[in-house]
Amino acid sequence: MLSELEFVIGDPQVCTGCMICVNVCSMRFFKTISPARSRARVLRVEPALDFPLFCRNCEDAPCIDACPENAIRRTKKGTVIISEAKCTGTGDCVEACPYAAIKINPDTGKAIKCIQCGECVKRCPVDALQITTREKLQETDPDGEILALHDEHADILYEKEESP
Ligand code: SF4
Ligand code: SF4
Repeated sequence: MLSELEFVIGDPQVCTGCMICVNVCSMRFFKTISPARSRARVLRVEPALDFPLFCRNCEDAPCIDACPENAIRRTKKGTVIISEAKCTGTGDCVEACPYAAIKINPDTGKAIKCIQCGECVKRCPVDALQITTREKLQETDPDGEILALHDEHADILYEKEESP
């Protein structure tokens, strides 16, 4: 199953940090340009790497188990989704996600995450993004450089924001 699950990954060696992917996402779902309302993040690691960051669609998906409201589930296609109707914004999923891939939408108080819609992948002007699977990534990045760079900077990339 692991090799078939799709996720979006960004190549920090190609990304220019333009934030188009982040803004395309908030436009698509909330009709606003707002990083706080986007399911994507782009983080600059100085001096020169911009990491586009998304849900990895983990096989074990700790976010699902962490939700006390059973608001998170995996669809038949394999996508982990959050029910806006069931979510009460406790933030347990935010804490549980090892990739800092879930945010609480400041307008609704509900959790949001990437669902691999692919809109950002289409709109990236330098083709830094791909929807892939573990198996496909071995073909498009045979040396494993993309994941290795993410792993190398994991401490910074997946740091949780302090609660207010
Ligand atoms: S749109 Fe492409 S180049 Fe711009 S920040 Fe996103 S991944 Fe990077
Ligand atoms: S939101 Fe986080 S924990 Fe849940 S599937 Fe995505 S990366 Fe994994």
